[in-house]
Amino acid sequence: MIVIGSGPSGRRAAVQAAKLGKSVLVVEKGRRVGGVSVHTGTIPSKTLRETVLNLSGWRERGFYGRAYRVKQDIGADDLIVRLRKTLDHEVEVLEHQFNRNAVKTANGEARFVGPHEIEVVAENGETRIFHAAHVLIACGTRPFRPDYVPFDGTSVFDSDEIIELPQLPRSLAVIGAGVIGVEYATIFSALDVSVTLIEPRDSFLDFIDKELIDEFMHELRDRNMRLRFGAAVTSIEAKEGGGVTTTLADGRVVASEMLLFAAGRVGATDRLNLGAVGIATDHRGRIVVDPKTLQTSAPHIYAAGDVIGFPSLASTSMEQGRLAACHAFGLAPPPPPEFFPYGIYSVPEISTVGMTEEEVRKREIPYECGIARFRETSRGHIMGLNTGMMKMIFSTRSRRLLGVHIVGEGATELIHIGQAVLNLKGTIDYFIENTFNYPTLAEAYKIAGLDAWNRMARG
Ligand SMILES: Cc1cc2nc3c(=O)[nH]c(=O)nc-3n(C[C@H](O)[C@H](O)[C@H](O)COP(=O)(O)OP(=O)(O)OC[C@H]3O[C@@H](n4cnc5c(N)ncnc54)[C@H](O)[C@@H]3O)c2cc1C
Repeated sequence: MIVIGSGPSGRRAAVQAAKLGKSVLVVEKGRRVGGVSVHTGTIPSKTLRETVLNLSGWRERGFYGRAYRVKQDIGADDLIVRLRKTLDHEVEVLEHQFNRNAVKTANGEARFVGPHEIEVVAENGETRIFHAAHVLIACGTRPFRPDYVPFDGTSVFDSDEIIELPQLPRSLAVIGAGVIGVEYATIFSALDVSVTLIEPRDSFLDFIDKELIDEFMHELRDRNMRLRFGAAVTSIEAKEGGGVTTTLADGRVVASEMLLFAAGRVGATDRLNLGAVGIATDHRGRIVVDPKTLQTSAPHIYAAGDVIGFPSLASTSMEQGRLAACHAFGLAPPPPPEFFPYGIYSVPEISTVGMTEEEVRKREIPYECGIARFRETSRGHIMGLNTGMMKMIFSTRSRRLLGVHIVGEGATELIHIGQAVLNLKGTIDYFIENTFNYPTLAEAYKIAGLDAWNRMARG
C-alpha cells in the first residue's frame, strides 16, 4: 500500500497495514512526518493553549483575581520554546512507530501517473516511481486563502502561520468563528490580548447545544472579547506602518494590530493529478468516498482524513485510516460506535457527544435535561472555578442518555464517561446509582443526573 500523507489517517492506515504483514510506503512532502496535525494544527494549537494557560496563570485567576499572572512579560519566544519541544517529541514517537512496524517512508510530493503508479518528486527534483496494489489518499487540507486577504506573515496570518508569530499583538481580529477561529480567539484573549471575533453569519458553532453556546458567549463577553457577527467582510487593509483595518458590510470597522484569517480549509488535492485515475473533487478540493469502506470511485484507491470532509478531526481521521487499511486487505472490522465526541479546545473548553436539545426536539423524543454547575462540586471549590457547566439529556420514555454537553475546565476529558454510557445504551440510573471519586469534576455527572431525575420522577 502507498499512503500519501503522514497525518493521523495516513499514519494509522500505514501501521494497520504493516501489522497485517503488508509492505507499506508513506510519502510525505513535508520535511518531517506527522502531517497538519503535528506541525500546524492539532498539536501546535493545543500546546500553545497549554503554555498560555500555564504562563498566564489562567486557572488560578478564580482565586487571585483577573490581574494574576505567573509570568509578567509573556513573549512569542515563550510560546515557541514549548511548541518546538512538543513537536520534536511527537515526531520522534511517530518515526519510532514507523521503524518498529517496518513502515517505509519517502520524502517528496506524490502524484498519480497511473492507477497503481505514484510518482514522488523530492525537494531536489529527483523523481521516483512506486507501484502498489492499493493507495490511500491522506493528503489533508491547507488553509483557504482568498485573494482579497492581504496575507503577509507579519500582520495578516492564516491558521498555519499563526503558531510562529514574530511577536505577540496587543490586539487581534479573528475572521471565522469555526472551531479553529474560536480556539485561537479565546487562547489569545486568555493572554489579555484584545480580541475581536468576526463571523458573517448570525450564529456560530451551530452543531453545539444552544444553551452551552449561550453560556460560552456570556463568558467571552464577560472578559471583554468583542463579537462582530452577522456581517460579511468587505475589505481587509494592512497598513504601511503596521496595523490592519477590517471593514464589514454593515459599515462597522475593526482596527487591530494583527489579523488571523481562519475561515475554512481546502483539500490538498490539486497537485495529485487525480484526473489520471478518474477521481473528482468538489469546490473545496475534497473527495467523496463510500463512508463504510473509505473507497473512492476507483475501488483500489481509498481516501481518509480531512480530505473527505466532515468531521475533520484528528481523532476520527485515525479511525478512518485504520478502516481503509482493513478493508483494502480483506478484514471487516465492526462498524464504529454510533457516537463520537467533539472537543473544542477554546478557553473555556467545550465538549459534546450525542444529541443536542435542538435535535431531540426536532425528533419529537420526550426528554428531560439535568444541569450541573462546576461551582456546585467540591473539586470546583478547590480549583476556584466560578464557571463551567454540564448538561445531560435523557429520554423520559426509555430513561436512556441521549446527549452530554460540557463547557468548562476538563470538558474534553470528562466527556468520555458520557460517551461510554451513551454508546453502551445506558440510562439515567447509571448516574444515580454509581459512586464517583470525590472530590472530582466527574461528580457533575451525578449532580446533573439527579437534577434530571428529580424532574422526571415528578413528571
Ligand atoms: C488549527 C487546527 C487545530 C486543530 N485541532 C484539532 C483538535 O484539537 N482535535 C482534533 O481531533 N482535530 C483537530 N484539528 C484537525 C486535525 O488536525 C485534522 O483532522 C487532521 O490533521 C487530519 O488528518 P489527515 O490524516 O487528513 O492528515 P493531515 O494532518 O492533514 O496531514 C496531511 C499530510 O499530507 C501531506 N501531503 C499533502 N499532499 C501531499 C502530496 N501530494 N505528497 C505527499 N504528501 C502530501 C501534507 O504535507 C501533510 O503532512 C485541528 C486542525 C487545525 C488546522
